[in-house]
Amino acid sequence: PVRVRFAPSPTGRVHLGSGRTALYDYLIAKQTGGQFILRIEDTDQKRYVPGAEEELINGLRWLGIDWDEGPDVGGPYGPYRQSERKEIYQRYARELIDKGFAYPCFCTAERLQAVREQQLHNKEMPHYDGTCRNLRPEEASARIAAGEPYVVRFKTPKEGTTTVKDLLRGEINIENRQLDDYIIVKSDGLALYHLAAMVDDHLMKITHVIRGSEWLPTFPLHHLIYQAFGWDMPTFIHLSVFLKPSGKGKMSKRDAVDLDKEGYSIFLNDFKDLGYLPEGVVNWIALMGWSYDDHTEFFTMDDLIEKFSFEKLNPSPAAINFEKLDHFNGLHIRSLPVPVLAEQVKPFFEKGGYALTDDQLLQVAPIIQERLVTLDDAVEVAGFLFDEDIELVLEDLIPKKTTLEETLAIAKNCYEVLSGLPSLAPAVAEPPMRELVEKMGLKAGQVFGFLRQAATGRKVTPPLFESLEIIGKEKVLSRLKLAIT
Ligand code: GLU
Repeated sequence: PVRVRFAPSPTGRVHLGSGRTALYDYLIAKQTGGQFILRIEDTDQKRYVPGAEEELINGLRWLGIDWDEGPDVGGPYGPYRQSERKEIYQRYARELIDKGFAYPCFCTAERLQAVREQQLHNKEMPHYDGTCRNLRPEEASARIAAGEPYVVRFKTPKEGTTTVKDLLRGEINIENRQLDDYIIVKSDGLALYHLAAMVDDHLMKITHVIRGSEWLPTFPLHHLIYQAFGWDMPTFIHLSVFLKPSGKGKMSKRDAVDLDKEGYSIFLNDFKDLGYLPEGVVNWIALMGWSYDDHTEFFTMDDLIEKFSFEKLNPSPAAINFEKLDHFNGLHIRSLPVPVLAEQVKPFFEKGGYALTDDQLLQVAPIIQERLVTLDDAVEVAGFLFDEDIELVLEDLIPKKTTLEETLAIAKNCYEVLSGLPSLAPAVAEPPMRELVEKMGLKAGQVFGFLRQAATGRKVTPPLFESLEIIGKEKVLSRLKLAIT
């Protein structure tokens, strides 16, 4: 069975790309009836950011992703936080040293810096010069026993080539002399990613490693580590990188996109507050680097679980296009059941200053559903239906090609017709209003245009009669009266 893991480092906010990696992990695990493991890679104490793990968990759960094993849910291969696995890594580092695949290095930071400067001066690629590589084991042990600080380096072969295989890119050959003697355990005794992640993936019986392509340069080292232990390698899949955002979607206007000299960051947990649905974001990120065919673009999580495949992943850079996000979000908003949409727009109305009752929400949801790109649009599209007071100026209320006299007559007649009705429900109010249009010999646009503006203060509104019903008979009538006086 497939066992995949998502292994984030809690070093800050959660990038969109992490969301995509986790999504692909989740999809393949669900599709195959396998397991998805969350592993927190928090061995770098200097970069640890409190609260980052929580944000991560919230972000993933918001997307609709959950895991079978992880720090919060437990599982048979725990602990799932690397800071709780220090002794395990130390044991495996010791094994590599004993077998001659790694060695303690006592070089000081000052010495390494001097070496580096000399190499740069000679126009060489900076690399470790190998001073401690061939220390006699007794000498190394004696220096350790004497309390001298040291790191552990991997003893990369100086000759030959290493061939690694990525599922999307095929075989990649690297000459070993291009590889450094990478540090695998720091002087504080904590293992680095190269050792910790390989050990964990092996012990946790991971079958497929899905990770970012920033790990391609050190992929040969990871291969050599597996070889040194004599372990079988999982299948490795390095996902495409993201291209700088393009497109004029709503998101591009907001500060959730941090553009700076180094590049850009887009954070998963910002999408919710901006009014995006998890369904829209999932649809969008699923298609950044994966496609089903050349035309299907609407996918629910269930569709994706059914249709996702590694074969259709594309290793070339993926476009971040905000127009597409808006497009997908609109599609998913339209496919929500009305009560769900009502619940989803509630907090946005609240933020906009409208505390709506459940009945009001259920009334307004269906008439705005077609008009929303993001959930927060609800306030702009329909908030005014709940305003107490609106400003009306008679001159603005005069429809095109209509005289003042005609306008006053429209107002009076609308008032009379509507005040005689038991309610302003569309089925009740629309037929007599259409009769009125006939009787007055005017165009529907003239009468309804006036009524719309007099009742709402706006030229553009959701469907007229549904809007009138929401505003309520009493308010509509008093506004009509106000318009004439
Ligand atoms: N902790 C690593 C990162 O956040 C994980 C990479 C991997 O998935 O192996 O980049």
